[in-house]
Amino acid sequence: MMATRRNMIEDVEVEEEVYACPIATRDLKANLKARNFAFENYGYGPANPNDTKNNRGFWLKKATMLNTSVIEAMGMRCGNCAAFIQTSQMLECIKAGIEAKDPRQEAGYDEDVVEAAGLGYCELLHFKCADTRTCDAWLVGGPITDKSEEDD
Ligand code: SF4
Repeated sequence: MMATRRNMIEDVEVEEEVYACPIATRDLKANLKARNFAFENYGYGPANPNDTKNNRGFWLKKATMLNTSVIEAMGMRCGNCAAFIQTSQMLECIKAGIEAKDPRQEAGYDEDVVEAAGLGYCELLHFKCADTRTCDAWLVGGPITDKSEEDD
């Protein structure tokens, strides 16, 4: 009985130890590769979500694809996508990855650092995405946070 209990405790410890941050949170090249794939194949964007003046074409295209209004399409963002992970554990992974950046690669991280407050991890396309962007694979029901995980 004691041995069984000890094994169970060891199993739990092993499970806790094996969690590793997704590679895109700690590897710039992997993140950019996945992000570029999302740009090219899933219509990830808009490139600059804050540039509302020049984004109308982007949202119009999304609305046409979704057979809905521009206003509704604009409400479907990474920030409320079910694939968008913003648990405290994931945010720690993202933060640790940015802090550990290689100075030689600094230019590639600048945008991520600027957008840090809105970053999360896309479980579908495996990269760090910004809550104000979207893509063709958007899923209703997000984001995934500590609170939503608790509620489950
Ligand atoms: S699947 Fe969701 S979280 Fe991932 S890029 Fe698309 S909209 Fe953003």
